[in-house]
Amino acid sequence: MKNTSSENHDKGFRFLPSVDQLMEKNEVKQLISRYSREFILHNIRELLAAIRNEISQGKADLQEVKKRAEGLIDELRQRLKAQLSPFLHRVINATGVIIHTNLGRASLCPSAVERLQELSCRYLNLEFSLEEGRRGARDLPVERLISRMFPGKSCVVVNNNAAAVLLVLNTLAEGKEVIVSRGELVEVGGSFRIPEVMEKSGAVLKEVGTTNKTRLQDYERAISPNTALLLAVHQSNFRILGFTESVRMEELVALGRRHGIPVMEDMGSGNMIDLSPYGITDEPSVEEILAKGANIISFSGDKLLGGPQSGIIVGDKELIARVKGNPLLRAVRAGKLTYLALEATLMEYLKGRPEVSIPVLQMLSTPLEELQRRAEAIIEELGKVKGSSLKVEIMEGASKVGGGTIPLVELPSRLIAVTSTRHTADTISRKLRMRPLPVIARIQEERVIIDLRTVLPSEDRELVKALKELALAD
Ligand SMILES: *Cc1c(COP(=O)(O)O)cnc(C)c1O
Repeated sequence: MKNTSSENHDKGFRFLPSVDQLMEKNEVKQLISRYSREFILHNIRELLAAIRNEISQGKADLQEVKKRAEGLIDELRQRLKAQLSPFLHRVINATGVIIHTNLGRASLCPSAVERLQELSCRYLNLEFSLEEGRRGARDLPVERLISRMFPGKSCVVVNNNAAAVLLVLNTLAEGKEVIVSRGELVEVGGSFRIPEVMEKSGAVLKEVGTTNKTRLQDYERAISPNTALLLAVHQSNFRILGFTESVRMEELVALGRRHGIPVMEDMGSGNMIDLSPYGITDEPSVEEILAKGANIISFSGDKLLGGPQSGIIVGDKELIARVKGNPLLRAVRAGKLTYLALEATLMEYLKGRPEVSIPVLQMLSTPLEELQRRAEAIIEELGKVKGSSLKVEIMEGASKVGGGTIPLVELPSRLIAVTSTRHTADTISRKLRMRPLPVIARIQEERVIIDLRTVLPSEDRELVKALKELALAD
């Protein structure tokens, strides 16, 4: 049955102004001058429609409708504010996982941020030769640095390492065979699976050996006139322990040479330095893998390298030239923001002290005593809170490198364990996540664990603030 106009009248529609009436109000005119007429009009229409809908469904009585009508402008402002606040915002990573893919992997070093700030709002010679006054090569800024670090090698930068692997396989082995050990048919988080990428690249996977043991003869026997590549894949996020055997890169390279077949390693992490001073001995560096003779390697820019999301392919000049000639490159090439940040990050390596400037390496190399000292200072601050419902204590524990790198290594750390007389660990952790500057912690045995290794020292004060809020909240 249709509502008569008098029935509508009684429900309170009469309290609501029209769109035009609202648009004429001074406060609204101010909003229009700050944003745009269209944007404000659209929001007013949506807001009024939502209220009318509630009235029709009998969800608001006369008194409520009247009150809402009076507060319409405030409600409009709140609507705009919610719409205009960005979805992505800063969080404090207290998980102890340094390369946390869900939290954006590597944070950029200050020099990379400076370059982005200076140049991302301007024109730049991204792909333009100033000397010749015409189109130049996009890879030059990075290639210049890579060839200094690894003499005789060239490189290509793409969007991420998954794209790098796809591109190299498609370039060197489309319609041909690629030999891979069964122990290296890995899946990296987020559904990057070597067999599937291989299939998409048009290359034919030829698996050899078994999950735990693959020998040189296994590769050798699989080689045919149609073999285009020997591929080694870094066991990024797992290790096979116990009764195992795998072929060393040097042996694979020697085999490849004998048969005139190039050898690729998908190394993943992009580690550029010797990590043994930090207790990490099983993550070879780019330099080491190249020194063993790998003809072409690929890695991520935002894992241990500590730069922007990217995939970096480094290798023999002739192979890289073929990759550069592949039309697929256009579909996966990196943008100017990536080149700006990557150039600055690599420059930190060239300068020779990346541990002091690149956040991933800073966190990795922070001494335990420093974490202990910071933890003590935080606990002391919290001890001053009267009537606190929180119990906080320092615990020994371990951080992880993360990002599908170095899965077995635990970096000794100092943790702050938080429990409450009022709340469960789940509630505490939710409260920490839902504050304006979220703190992301982990839960272990009904305790909220804050790992200081991934919290920047400059964030300690904010952490104390967050915990004080919790201590005093009901
Ligand atoms: C991380 C990783 C990838 C995927 O790299 P993205 O940069 O995330 O695309 C591929 N292979 C290996 C061995 C990895 O560790």
